Amino acid sequence: MKTTATGYVNGEFCDLADAKISILDRGLLFGDAVYEALRVNNGRLFRVGDHYARMSNGLKALGIPVPFSASQYEAILTELARRNGVKSGLVYIQVTHGAAMRAHVPPKDIAPNVFAFIQTSEVPAWPRKYPGGVSVATVEDLRWQRCNIKTSMLLANTLAKRQATDAGAFEAILVGQDGTVHEGAVSNLFVVIGGSLRTHPVDGHVLPGVTRNVVLDLARTHGIPAAERAFSKAELFAAEEAFLTGTTADVCPVVRVDGKPIGDGRIGPLTARLIKLLAEVLQRETTDDGR
Ligand code: PLP
Repeated sequence: MKTTATGYVNGEFCDLADAKISILDRGLLFGDAVYEALRVNNGRLFRVGDHYARMSNGLKALGIPVPFSASQYEAILTELARRNGVKSGLVYIQVTHGAAMRAHVPPKDIAPNVFAFIQTSEVPAWPRKYPGGVSVATVEDLRWQRCNIKTSMLLANTLAKRQATDAGAFEAILVGQDGTVHEGAVSNLFVVIGGSLRTHPVDGHVLPGVTRNVVLDLARTHGIPAAERAFSKAELFAAEEAFLTGTTADVCPVVRVDGKPIGDGRIGPLTARLIKLLAEVLQRETTDDGR
């Protein structure tokens, strides 16, 4: 099978259908791999340095050598977007611990595998599908204690998102056994309580989202009060506003949780402001005169 898409594996660009790695790869056998999904806009990568830093941290945490410099990383992914003629979309890159005979402890001399491809899905999808904001469903967080590492080991996330989707919701909100709200299955979550933004602090329960960080920076610059402090499911239900952040979601308004309206069930003013501010940052940082 030939495709019209170009993929990347270990230094080579090739037809996506020919992009292959071994069945002994530890990413496949153990989920021993780290990935990133980056936004492409105007053919440029958004916050590529932040994605590189997060990926490098994850690789170090898993004992995988970082196989490229920041500039090599950017060059590979920009070239992949160029070869695919993608001006706007997502680029996916994964680095695995490499291939070796199956054993829990990897051999010392193992070399990482790197692969990348373009995802052409509409980004973000919610404004066209849910212009009035999205519904979310709370789901028990069954993930491990190191969710700050962006590993490809996403089964708890995929099951949670499927559960939410089956219940007619756009996203699953993962809640700890103690009732603390962590994040979405593929996004971070913010609420507005008493006029102030709140989001779970970065620890083993949440991913340090690139978009989350942009929103916290925007809050600082624009004098919007914001705290990285955990909140409960009861506080989520009582919040004035709520929104998701993520590379695929941007700032995405949440208007219902488990069928109950957030605030008056409409996109809140702070959320609307941050949607606009994020769009401006994205445009500014991905246009020729913006850098
Ligand atoms: N949390 C989880 C579990 C995610 O998978 C993602 C994105 O994939 C995010 C948060 C948002 O992170 P970012 O803004 O870097 O895309």
